[in-house]
Amino acid sequence: MEVAKTIEELKQAVQKLRSEGHRIGLVPTMGFLHEGHLRLVDRCKEVSDKTILTIFVNPTQFGPNEDLDAYPRDEERDLKLCEERGVDLVFCPNVEDMYGASHSTFVIEERASKGLCGISRPIHFRGVLTICCKLFMLSRCDVAVFGQKDAQQVILIEKMVRELNLPVEIVRGEIIRESDGLAMSSRNRYLTESERKIAPCLQEALQIGKALIEGGQTETAKIRSEMAHHIEKHPEIRIDYLELVDVQELTPLSVVRPGEVLIAGAIYIGKTRLIDNVNV
Ligand code: AMP
Repeated sequence: MEVAKTIEELKQAVQKLRSEGHRIGLVPTMGFLHEGHLRLVDRCKEVSDKTILTIFVNPTQFGPNEDLDAYPRDEERDLKLCEERGVDLVFCPNVEDMYGASHSTFVIEERASKGLCGISRPIHFRGVLTICCKLFMLSRCDVAVFGQKDAQQVILIEKMVRELNLPVEIVRGEIIRESDGLAMSSRNRYLTESERKIAPCLQEALQIGKALIEGGQTETAKIRSEMAHHIEKHPEIRIDYLELVDVQELTPLSVVRPGEVLIAGAIYIGKTRLIDNVNV
């Protein structure tokens, strides 16, 4: 496995892969890898013949009061996991290399990025789209794999690729969960033992919503209130949002039908913010 720590090193490695005629797959991550990330690697290997995984805690997607400095990092362990899983090239640049001091160019989506996570994290998707666009260009990837765990993110990336005509195919990887249903996340490590015990309630609430819709309930307000009721049993949890939105454009729905709904939620347990979603 090769490791590129600078843009220059990456460019040289990519040049070699392209001259050998490989179909390049990309898995962008912020590191502190878990099985959810590694399953994206497996998926990437199915749809490409060389896998590049990037590890970069991207400062432009963190707001001023968010966890940029505290974000967990363990590059040595990450590299070992990548090697074991058959990643071909890891790109782990530093911030100065990715963003020069005078950087002022960003990719901004102006509609679907405004709701859901965009409300409490107003600059988040500008940072995500910008870094992904840069990583697509630098890696010259044919295909990039993103997890359904960050549903709004993958929808916005697909939209960016479509609307800016970027020559990249986007593949979605399913949500990988712990045995009690909690979606795997690098941020789960912030949870105390007692917080960890109640964390699956977000997924449980989403399942309640799904069952109601599948049982014929169509009124969003009723579904949302049952989901909220389940989470509110735990006073230490604060709901950021629980929304039923259109699966394509993420617009809020007041009446829902199976086959076209994304139920997405975000909660704060103590200082930790967790997200999850389910398609119905
Ligand atoms: P992150 O390192 O959190 O920025 O995530 C990098 C990629 O891994 C994104 O495409 C995420 O959607 C994906 N990912 C993170 N957690 C999971 C999970 N539990 N299941 C599937 N994909 C995930």
